[in-house]
Amino acid sequence: MGAPRYGVLGWPVGHSRSPAMMQAAGLERYQRLPVAPEAFEDTVRALGAAGFRGANVTIPHKEAALAVATTASDAARAIGAANTLSFGADGSIAAENTDAPGLLAALGRAPASALVLGAGGSARAAIWALSQAGADVAVWNRTPERARGLGARVVTGAVAAEVLVNCTSVGLDDSSTVFKDLPLHADALAEYETVVDLVYRAGGTVLIREAELRGCDVVDGLEILVRQGALSFSLWTGKPAPLQTMRAAVRRPRPEADVA
Ligand code: NAP
Repeated sequence: MGAPRYGVLGWPVGHSRSPAMMQAAGLERYQRLPVAPEAFEDTVRALGAAGFRGANVTIPHKEAALAVATTASDAARAIGAANTLSFGADGSIAAENTDAPGLLAALGRAPASALVLGAGGSARAAIWALSQAGADVAVWNRTPERARGLGARVVTGAVAAEVLVNCTSVGLDDSSTVFKDLPLHADALAEYETVVDLVYRAGGTVLIREAELRGCDVVDGLEILVRQGALSFSLWTGKPAPLQTMRAAVRRPRPEADVA
């Protein structure tokens, strides 16, 4: 039998820092699982029998992960996506979404108000988490129609709030467009007590750097990655996650240049 197996399902998934983070946390048989969308369902159904106890799920499979599961948490169902699967000996597949509580854990508090930028998968989780925590949530998206029906007030520009959460992919590839593509200038960041950027890249993001310069508290994408991973770890092992070890692992410079 050997130690239980774990992995991260994605397509592509070569850039993922989850294996380094989870191996450092003690899941030594945690691996990348590059799976194309057309093979996703069959692969996931076979993982339990192949010795897997759990898998994280990343782009583009989070919705498919919920669909293939035999049971799902209220959070995963409400968000419409799962980032964590647990495989039972009886063939069951349980879906959970730890992105949502991971964001709240990274914030360390339930804010009174938040402005979420973006309306994709991560924005849906953020809006759900913040609303559940009692925050008044506004959402801005480049394509406003996509922001409707997500459970937040749709706004056409940046509005004041305690917390700003960037859930767009802006800043991932090209730092020079951040304050053109997002609906605010760098100086406006000072209006927010805390700035969260889900994007992470080698050397950090412009949004986080500019927010720090203006005295905001910041939460970067690597901390978000650690917090969602820590919750997955505890779900699978029943143990508290070694947060500091996981943080050190995701922040260790990688030999190859990477952007995500
Ligand atoms: P997604 O579902 O593909 O959504 C992408 C969002 O970005 C959409 O709202 C899209 O707006 C917006 N966008 C893309 N290019 C834009 C531009 N040039 N200007 C303005 N808006 C733009 O992606 P996702 O899963 O939500 O992920 C978003 C980002 O968060 C990614 O960079 C991902 O790597 C990161 N992420 C990090 C973590 C973590 O653990 N740190 C977890 C999840 C995601 P439209 O609707 O107008 O296209």
